[in-house]
Amino acid sequence: MLPRLDSRDVSDLTGMSGPRKLYVKSFGCQMNVYDSHRMADTLAPEGYVETATPDDADLVILNTCHIREKAAEKVYSELGRIRNIKQQASQEGRRVLIAVAGCVAQAEGEEIIRRAPAVDLVVGPQSYHRLPDLLAQAAGRRVVDTEFPVEDKFDFLAPPAREKTRARGVSAFVTVQEGCDKFCTFCVVPYTRGTEVSRPVAKIVAEVERLAEAGVRELTLIGQNVNAYHGEGPDGGPWPLGRLLHRLAEVPGIARLRYTTSHPRDMDTSLIAAHRDLPALMPYLHLPVQSGSDRILAAMNRRHTRAEYAAVVAKLRDTRHDLAVSSDFIVGFPGESEEDFLETLSLVDEIGYASAFSFKYSPRPGTPAAAMEQVPEAVKVERLHRLQQAIDRHQAAFNARCLGKTFEVLFEKPGKRPGQLVGRSPWLQPVHALAPAALIGEIVPVTITEIGSNSLFGTLAVSSRHNEDSSAALAMAGA
Ligand code: SAM
Ligand code: SF4
Repeated sequence: MLPRLDSRDVSDLTGMSGPRKLYVKSFGCQMNVYDSHRMADTLAPEGYVETATPDDADLVILNTCHIREKAAEKVYSELGRIRNIKQQASQEGRRVLIAVAGCVAQAEGEEIIRRAPAVDLVVGPQSYHRLPDLLAQAAGRRVVDTEFPVEDKFDFLAPPAREKTRARGVSAFVTVQEGCDKFCTFCVVPYTRGTEVSRPVAKIVAEVERLAEAGVRELTLIGQNVNAYHGEGPDGGPWPLGRLLHRLAEVPGIARLRYTTSHPRDMDTSLIAAHRDLPALMPYLHLPVQSGSDRILAAMNRRHTRAEYAAVVAKLRDTRHDLAVSSDFIVGFPGESEEDFLETLSLVDEIGYASAFSFKYSPRPGTPAAAMEQVPEAVKVERLHRLQQAIDRHQAAFNARCLGKTFEVLFEKPGKRPGQLVGRSPWLQPVHALAPAALIGEIVPVTITEIGSNSLFGTLAVSSRHNEDSSAALAMAGA
């Protein structure tokens, strides 16, 4: 482990004193957003205060994503912009440190400094707790830390201050699991995030209690493969995700629970039962399938067939009739024929997704699929377009079924129009309604009066009406 330096050492070496400004930009998934918050929390006791722009920052952290080529390349164009800010600051006698964190840092290491020499520090996702020490070192020389250390970073990352949690809103993400052992042939995650690790139950409960005390009402448990969770319980044995959800539902103040992202193979009986037994567990599940073709699923090493996936969804819907499902899809995986792609389109129709993400296959260096025979770009573009049309059709139909229904909305923040608040339905749709600001953080019945392209609009409902209509809402969502 690296020697620990205190914050005075950092100031001495950088020539900075007083509060320093930190600008963190997140790319990619929610796990990166969570990590960015935790980095900012860890640097707060070192005197760093967050700023909304890189222009006046003393430290810029780009928290990067390597999942697709486009995501990784975005980082380099952003670094060009930040380099200019650094040069300008230097002319004004101000030292700016640039750190690259996240999965690009993990995957490319030293290469980042070769391509972008203005970078002072490259830090992989497992080393964020070392940031204060690494920054102190980076003030004197360039530093690259992409180790998978033996200590648990969560033991060292500072919790957020109460006001910071409040400012981040009533809905919070909590990482409960990291890494992946599945090795899908297209995916870099097992290489950039490492092997599956689950946080112990007691530590998650402590974090959730702190969040709830600060006003958080909704939790989304996150992990690259969150339903493979098997953290140590207070009884010393491993707890599955279903049991963890039950425990978190007991935390006073927590009214809604969600989790993402799940693998179909890891939907065990305790988790399926939680969808039946836990009213706080929202009836919306992101369960990526990637393809509807068994041939492609096998080439992807997904370890499930189309029929097994459909059977899991059917079991979940039997358990909770209003469950809505979303997915991720990849089009143009190596060897995907038109027939394979038509299988994907037919699965979209069979499942009837409430929403879904779709991506063109992007070859990632070092993954098995990158060495397979590739599908031409024009074919990928055309298939992506057709798939997105099919997904949009189902999403529009799902949203249309909400018209006239009343269901509970957790209000999160002011909307764009005066007097309006925006919140989330149980199925994660944004819902806008005229409502007093005092309802932020409250769960309130809303009757849907208008369907927009990406959100719903409604009016506050009287509670008796809500009781009558809630069963209708349940029936509506499942189909
Ligand atoms: N663990 C999740 C699962 O099993 O589906 C996925 C996590 S991954 C961070 C998010 C999504 O990115 C994947 O579901 C997949 O659709 C997409 N993805 C991953 N690698 C990709 C690649 N090489 N090209 C295109 N999309 C990719
Ligand atoms: Fe990547 Fe998900 Fe497959 Fe793991 S299960 S390798 S995170 S796509």
